[in-house]
Amino acid sequence: MTIPYIGRLAPSPTGLLHLGHARTFFFAHQRARSANGMLYLRDEDLDRQRSRPEFSAAMREDLLWLGLSWDAELRQSERLPIYRAALDRLLAAGLAYPCTCSRRDLAQAMQAPHEDAAAAAEDDEPIYNNRCRPAGAYPTNIFVPGCNYRFRTPVHTRVAFTDLHAGPQSFTTSADFGDFLIWRKALDGDASGIGLPSYQLACVVDDALTGVTEVVRGGDLLKSTARQILLQRALGYSTPAYFHCDLVRDSTGIRLAKRHDALALRTLRAQGVTPAKILTMF
Ligand code: GLU
Repeated sequence: MTIPYIGRLAPSPTGLLHLGHARTFFFAHQRARSANGMLYLRDEDLDRQRSRPEFSAAMREDLLWLGLSWDAELRQSERLPIYRAALDRLLAAGLAYPCTCSRRDLAQAMQAPHEDAAAAAEDDEPIYNNRCRPAGAYPTNIFVPGCNYRFRTPVHTRVAFTDLHAGPQSFTTSADFGDFLIWRKALDGDASGIGLPSYQLACVVDDALTGVTEVVRGGDLLKSTARQILLQRALGYSTPAYFHCDLVRDSTGIRLAKRHDALALRTLRAQGVTPAKILTMF
């Protein structure tokens, strides 16, 4: 029996959706529907400082306007205990450790020799300088609030996968990425007091627990896929298929970001651009 296709649209409500999102979500939708599969809408609203309910509402409206549909919904901010349980499992396995580096320490780590300008431009997480990494694994069940937590990546390990669109990919730990953040400490005013999972951890847990079989997303996340494969292995999850779409760039070659308001779907819509026209713009 073949496993039914399960996909997801995973927008972050931190701004208005633009042409780049439309392209990715269009592909995700098309692949799910042509496989007779099901599609989740996952609201990735974990960035407490930048996520806003009005952007959540706007992204739903824009997706529906584009003609995209989904079958079930998930909101990450409602799933914190699930992510905490995953962190606890990593701690118990000796695969996570608390990091007490300050923002200033981390800013210095950003200037580490590995850091490359292209990665910074793509908003990638800098390679950590291992300052808090314990010499040996020490399994613990104790969660200390007020700390960030990092995943203990195996050193100099190659992580390879074949992307269904971008082809064969290979990343090496310690060179391409290091011990990445999996948990962020609570900020002042955070009512729960336990902090929040990082994008990497929340994404891996949700993809696995909702049975996602194929992840369709932007090509800026190829390196994150290597990180996520390591987390999947550590948590005993299987690895889904990946399809990373080409990024849409503006006329000067810069990747579209939420600051490109001129290319926001609702700006185009207000100018009379139709969904059919948008779909020919990729
Ligand atoms: N929420 C992410 C974004 O809006 C996408 C993450 C993913 O698809 O894994 O860029």
